[in-house]
Amino acid sequence: MRRPIIAGNWKMYKDMDEAVQLANEIKRGAYRIDNVEIILCPPFTNISEISEMTVESNIGLGGQNCHWEKEGAYTGEISVAMLKSVGCRYVIIGHSERRKYFLETDEIVGRKVNAAIAGGLVPIMCVGETLEEREAGKTLEVVKTQVTGGLKGLSADYLDKLIIAYEPVWAIGTGKTATPAQAQEVHAMIRKLLKELYSEEFSYSRRILYGGSVKPDNVLELMKEDDIDGGLIGGASLKADGFVDMIKITSSLYAEKGE
Ligand code: PEP
Repeated sequence: MRRPIIAGNWKMYKDMDEAVQLANEIKRGAYRIDNVEIILCPPFTNISEISEMTVESNIGLGGQNCHWEKEGAYTGEISVAMLKSVGCRYVIIGHSERRKYFLETDEIVGRKVNAAIAGGLVPIMCVGETLEEREAGKTLEVVKTQVTGGLKGLSADYLDKLIIAYEPVWAIGTGKTATPAQAQEVHAMIRKLLKELYSEEFSYSRRILYGGSVKPDNVLELMKEDDIDGGLIGGASLKADGFVDMIKITSSLYAEKGE
């Protein structure tokens, strides 16, 4: 069985005091849960402090973005090595907000995935269609292009820790969640595509997260779907109680399944 993941994307929220408090509350609330991989992706400025607080805990840390070069004159950017040096194990790549506001293309996403792995981080590569694309019946085509483009030229061995997050753009921060069936349809397509591109074993073992207005009251139904292996959670990760509830709900579900 694939180990589920509950990841919080804090986006550009939380100053240092707020971030420390939130991380502390999550750490306390999720203490002892060992069948869910818990990941926090705070703003860069808070990672170092939270890393010290969560060392030897069940919480892993991730960046929300990275640059594809190892270092250089790229004002405002952050490298994979820098993220690693403050305790990150993961990095979100190609979030729809990065694609929309910072014009990240599949080619850029691919370069970042490559750089993350080369530098020892686990990439969480985000894909997802806009509302117009869904309404035009192009969801599967768009997601297929994003997955194929982001992984272009990279081998199965190289990608053995890759995590994919399916996040329909129309569901991010809008309160509109994809129904479990809508999400499952796309997750199943991604898994089938990974089998075609690589192998059955590679496809079976990949974790594919759903993201888009996941909350305590819809997380269970989403996590019950066969090809949904966790959640990448924005807004609802900013309050410790709700976030911890989602971790516990997922933990109980997987405990029932025998994980
Ligand atoms: C996200 O930022 O990845 C996300 C899914 O946001 P929200 O949960 O707020 O929709």
